[in-house]
Amino acid sequence: MTTVTLPTIDTLITYPDGATRSTGTVVHVEPGEGGRAAVILDVTACHPVDTAWPDQPADRGTLTTDAAEVLPIVDAVTGGIHDGRLFLGAELPVRNGTEGWTFVVAHIVEGAPPAVGSTVTVDVDAAHRLALSAGHTACHLASLALDAALADAWTKPAPTDTLGHPAFDALAIQRSRITPFGAVDTYRIGTSLRRKGFDATALDAPDELAARIDAQLAEWIAGGGAIRIEREASSLSARRRWVCELASGRTDIPCGGTHLGDLNEFASITASLAVADVEGGRELTMTTTARLR
Ligand SMILES: [Zn+2]
Repeated sequence: MTTVTLPTIDTLITYPDGATRSTGTVVHVEPGEGGRAAVILDVTACHPVDTAWPDQPADRGTLTTDAAEVLPIVDAVTGGIHDGRLFLGAELPVRNGTEGWTFVVAHIVEGAPPAVGSTVTVDVDAAHRLALSAGHTACHLASLALDAALADAWTKPAPTDTLGHPAFDALAIQRSRITPFGAVDTYRIGTSLRRKGFDATALDAPDELAARIDAQLAEWIAGGGAIRIEREASSLSARRRWVCELASGRTDIPCGGTHLGDLNEFASITASLAVADVEGGRELTMTTTARLR
C-alpha cells in the first residue's frame, strides 16, 4: 500500500507578474471522474478560477511532461487542503487565504497524468490570457469611472474608493465576470444601499451616465500609466493588489487576476449600462468593452 501525501505548501504562482510559461515539479495527482485528474505543481504560470469570487475564467494551455507528452489543461481550479483532505473547485468550503489551509492550483487533465516527482512545463495560451487581462484591467477602470460618475448621487457620507469617490462598485456589486476584452458587472440597488444614502434616480438616464464613464475612461487612457500587481509573497494565498498609476494619482484594488502592463496599451474602453426593476429594488448591469492599440 502506498501512502499519498498531500502538499503542505501553497502553490507558487507566476501569473501575477505576467508569466505564461513555467516549469515545475508534480507534487500531487488526484484522480477524478471520467478519466480526469487534478495535477498539482510546486509552481505554475496558470491562473485558476477562484471559487469564492469567480470573476476571471481559468487560463487555457497545456502541460508538457518530461516524456514530451502534451496534455491539454481542460480546466484550472483552486484547491484547498485541510485535515488531510483535498477540496477542489466548487467543493472548497472556504475562501482562498483562510488560516490553517493550504491552497493549490489544480490543473485538470484528461488521460494518463504525469507522475508525482516528475518535471512538467506549463504553457498558457498567451492570446487568450492577453484578452482576459485586457478585460480585467478594463473592468477595474470602468468600476472606478462608475464610482466617479455616481459621486453626486449620494446624500450622506459613504465609504470611498482609492480615488476618493463613494464606493458604489464595492457596496453594490453582486457579480463580476471577465470576458475576452471585456467584462459584465451586475449591481444591486436595494433598501440597504438607499439607506446608506444612494439616490437611485441617478440611474434614470443610463446612456448619459455611460457617456460620462466613457469620457473619464478616455481621459485616463490618454494620460497613460503603469499597471502592476503588488503582492506580499509568491504563494497562491498571499494578498495581491492591482495598482494603476493614473496621471491623477495612484489607485489600487484587491485582485487575484491578471492585467495589462500600461494604460497606453488600450485604444479605448467603453461601457454600456442597463437598468432593470427587480424584487426589492433595481439592478444595474455594466458591460465593458476594451480595444487594444
Ligand atoms: Zn480584479
